[in-house]
Amino acid sequence: MRIALILGLLSHFLVQAPSAHAKVRVVTTIQTFRSLAEEIGGDQVEVTALVGESVDPHHVDPRPSHAVTLNKADLLVHVGLDLERGWLPPLLEQARNPKVRSGEVGNLDASTAGIMVLDAGGAVTRAQGDIHPMGNPHYWLHPDNALRVARALAERLKRIDPGQASTYEARLQAFSNRLAARRKEWEENAKALAGVKIVTYHKSWSYLTSWLKLVEIGNIEPKPGVPPDPKHLAELVGSARSQGAKMVIVETYYPRNTAQRVATLAGMKAVVLPSDAGGKERSYFALVDKIVTELVAAVR
Ligand SMILES: [Zn+2]
Repeated sequence: MRIALILGLLSHFLVQAPSAHAKVRVVTTIQTFRSLAEEIGGDQVEVTALVGESVDPHHVDPRPSHAVTLNKADLLVHVGLDLERGWLPPLLEQARNPKVRSGEVGNLDASTAGIMVLDAGGAVTRAQGDIHPMGNPHYWLHPDNALRVARALAERLKRIDPGQASTYEARLQAFSNRLAARRKEWEENAKALAGVKIVTYHKSWSYLTSWLKLVEIGNIEPKPGVPPDPKHLAELVGSARSQGAKMVIVETYYPRNTAQRVATLAGMKAVVLPSDAGGKERSYFALVDKIVTELVAAVR
């Protein structure tokens, strides 16, 4: 009886005790954060993204498998600013994982990593249909912000896995160096974009356009998350024509025919671009490469 009890306790302990070499399980919402976590975590982490490739990050279908993934996570990294508001809180509820609850070291709201939030401070509310009530949440393409998120990730990984702190710090430094070098190339290539007027479907590009000095003169959506009506589109076409706008950027997951119609009527090019990593653009670097290359090609 006593032996059975001891064996029971022992097997319980063996199952529960984390192995010395266990990888830190990181779950991210968007794919770009998956890429950043891989950059900083290397072999020490196992990273899963909840937002599929080419999926609107505002609107993800929560699946039971997402809750299972979150249940096993040591660290959750999310965009914040209400981007995942429609789907992440119910998943966290189902996941029943105290480690990744809001306020815990295992819950990183990356918008708190020193991001200067654009379009904030207005009197917008969700009641008006605007899905950016806390300001623009699409900050991850800007290299300054990618570095801020990478730093915050390294800081959390060091706290969760202090034995590997020096590895995370070294990987952060390597990422920072590589980013600085790539950024110079991107800015050199993007010189032709300065002052070019553009229209975008959703306000997914404001941080990128301010970095590359593109001038965003309007959006196909009258407000973020609100589909366009004919009157808004007619005004947008008139304004794009009179201001000499050159292109419409449309995210891979928005209706292309509307963007194409507006582009044709106003003499612009429609450029379909990924706003998150995935597919051939699996890494943050490949994603920004692709965007800069396509934008420059469109103004040539
Ligand atoms: Zn948005």
